[in-house]
Amino acid sequence: MHYFVYKNDDLYCENVPIADIAEQIGTPFYLYSYATITRHFRVFGDAFNDLDHLTCFSVKSNSSLAILRIFALHGGGADVVSGGELFRALRAGIAPDKIVYSGVGKTLEEMKLALNSNILMFNVESDQELQLLNITAKDMGCKATIAIRINPEVEPKTHPYLATGHSENKFGIPLKDSLNTYESAKQLENIDVKGISCHIGSQLTDIDPFLEALRKLKDILKELTKMAFDIKFLNLGGGLGITYSNEKPPHPLEYAKALKEIIRKDNITLILEPGRVIIGNAGILVTRVLYTKSTKNKRFIIVDAGMNDLIRPTLYNSFHAIQPVKMTHSEMLVADLVGPVCETGDFFVKDKKMPPFKSGDLVAIMSAGAYSFSMASNYNSRPRPAEVMVKGKLFSLIRSRETYNDLIHGEVFPKFL
Ligand SMILES: *Cc1c(COP(=O)(O)O)cnc(C)c1O
Repeated sequence: MHYFVYKNDDLYCENVPIADIAEQIGTPFYLYSYATITRHFRVFGDAFNDLDHLTCFSVKSNSSLAILRIFALHGGGADVVSGGELFRALRAGIAPDKIVYSGVGKTLEEMKLALNSNILMFNVESDQELQLLNITAKDMGCKATIAIRINPEVEPKTHPYLATGHSENKFGIPLKDSLNTYESAKQLENIDVKGISCHIGSQLTDIDPFLEALRKLKDILKELTKMAFDIKFLNLGGGLGITYSNEKPPHPLEYAKALKEIIRKDNITLILEPGRVIIGNAGILVTRVLYTKSTKNKRFIIVDAGMNDLIRPTLYNSFHAIQPVKMTHSEMLVADLVGPVCETGDFFVKDKKMPPFKSGDLVAIMSAGAYSFSMASNYNSRPRPAEVMVKGKLFSLIRSRETYNDLIHGEVFPKFL
């Protein structure tokens, strides 16, 4: 459910015609609906209302400050995977005691920043990381609160690049070694073990892998209780999928209900790290057609956004629905929607029916709220696009379009040139 809808023949974001925004700020731009974001966040959180829980938005899915500020204002936490994301979460006003920090390669500097910021906990992903964290906390005269991230070795049934809970993935500590790691964590003076965590993948449309992972976490919890650990947090990560075309992911209510059946009686706080399910369908990419051209067996619509702005189609072969900003009632045509970047991988959709777009038309690339701007780059020296948020009748830039000067920020000519 989102707030990108046609009124008469014009595509609106909430109460603002998208064409008006394009007129004022130019194209391409990302556009987010405040009502959609808050609705998704509320529906997800409310599903767990009868359980102690903390919703930590996955910052890597969309790290724009204004978006993070919405979660801060609604009592949300953050799941970060780098010092930069931690910096953003804090800058946006997210309470440090609602921030969890995952990632297989945390550096010493990042650990110091997180310890100084008093975050809720680290999700530790290796024995060496555990040792360094202990030494770092000791040097700083504090204790690091941690969960061990376990790789529960389940098959998440998603795109291979989006699977993280297989024995072949780099994430977490193998299930069979996890109790040993807990045992060694117990010996470390500056480590305070408080949780168990996992994250098995992204864009999951089936509930079973989550349940399988949760059951495995619960088995570990039982063992740890026997071993006299005081575990307060169970972190199931993120991963709930969304509808890009005809996927039928479980509703958050259904997801929550199934999870609660497994952990209802445990005296524990559940941490969830949703990203895509909150923000994926709350944003779109708006672009304008530059040219059209036809070859012997192909028709190309060339737009002013490129793979540097939205890399998901070429990186994951992912599908994004294409909609006209001005509805036409003409017959649909099969075409490729492509960008200006000098790469064959620079496409949004291939061989799909779409309106007979012509030069100057505005195109909405749907479901572009998650892993979209946050993955944008400057490849081909293209300034990254603007980001805009709509709330009711209001809209505001939340990030200016980059300039050519932004492109060369930090570059210097060496003395010997
Ligand atoms: C990416 C990630 C998430 C969010 O995944 P979604 O599929 O966007 O919900 C949560 N936790 C961790 C550790 C992640 O790496």
